Amino acid sequence: MAGLLVVAEVSADGSLARISSEVATAAQQLRASGAGEATGVVVAADPDAAAAELAGYIPRVLAVAEPAAAEHAWASIAAERVAEIVKREQPSHILCGAGPDGRDVAGFLSALLGWGVLVNATALAWTEGKPTVEMSAFGGKLVTTSTFNGDEGIVTIRPNVVAAEALPATGSVETVALDGSLAQPTVTVAERVAEARAAAPIEEARVIVSGGRGVGSLDGFRVVEELAAALGGAVGATRAAVDSGWINYSQQIGQTGKIVKPRLYLALGISGAIQHKVGMQTAETIVAINRDADAPIAEFADLLVVGDLFEVAPAILAELRARSGRT
Ligand code: FAD
Repeated sequence: MAGLLVVAEVSADGSLARISSEVATAAQQLRASGAGEATGVVVAADPDAAAAELAGYIPRVLAVAEPAAAEHAWASIAAERVAEIVKREQPSHILCGAGPDGRDVAGFLSALLGWGVLVNATALAWTEGKPTVEMSAFGGKLVTTSTFNGDEGIVTIRPNVVAAEALPATGSVETVALDGSLAQPTVTVAERVAEARAAAPIEEARVIVSGGRGVGSLDGFRVVEELAAALGGAVGATRAAVDSGWINYSQQIGQTGKIVKPRLYLALGISGAIQHKVGMQTAETIVAINRDADAPIAEFADLLVVGDLFEVAPAILAELRARSGRT
């Protein structure tokens, strides 16, 4: 067994999920360090558009049309088809995104193939014929480096760990027909609901503007949203803001929320409690606006603006609008 297989995810509109272009780039980087050939696989009711996109990041893509994926939860179906591809292609390692679907598919694959999984990679390398995977443990207090005992395994990679890099020449797409009946139980999707205020998946966002208790009210959150929109980013929150009912739990960042790694994390009225810190501390640049110069976030922010967020945030917004020519 040799080579890497990237399990790609497809967005609701049929395009390639951004995380999958990153995972494909990670596979290319491992390949350059000595891992074998890298192949991508797209399993979807209509995989063509996403497969064509994936071929921009990985030299060979297998497109598997699976009609059952239209009406059923994707992960178990995709895993069953990917397990068949694994038997044909004999890769030594499988790479998936560490979002909800990627984690699900990795779990199903682990059960179907009997392979181990290393989850939520924050960095990975290829050493002595195996991937070595960096992971954050104990709420971010410890960074571990692990590899597999055996010769095969599955790795899930967090969003924003690798910057997607297009190939100089687009790869090939092969259509693979797998028409045997599915043996695993399927879950019928009764309804898909687009969550309000969740336009950009927060785990994939490059810019996050987050509000905490200091924002003070549902109304106060408008400035957080406006700033996020002006920066082309997503809105995040602390548990205090979520518990106050100002924003959905889906946007909570921290120990009991999401783990994010944006390029810019702008924290408005957030103290920087450890349970929040573990969800955002790996952001490339952290800017905090807090009226308390001694708030804990001052210890790990790259820049602390000491002031009232209701004065500072509108001033940033006005500057951004002036720069983009809007009033
Ligand atoms: P506070 O700590 O109250 O801070 C508010 C900040 O706003 C203060 O620093 C204040 O100076 C500043 N401020 C106030 N008004 C203004 C203003 N007008 N302008 C500028 N600054 C202002 N928390 C999470 O976020 N995510 C989690 O996943 C999470 N999980 C938890 C799990 C457990 C088991 C436990 C026990 C707690 C968890 N918490 C989590 C809660 C966490 O401990 C903190 O209570 C929470 O993060 C505090 O949120 P905050 O910073 O918004 O509020």
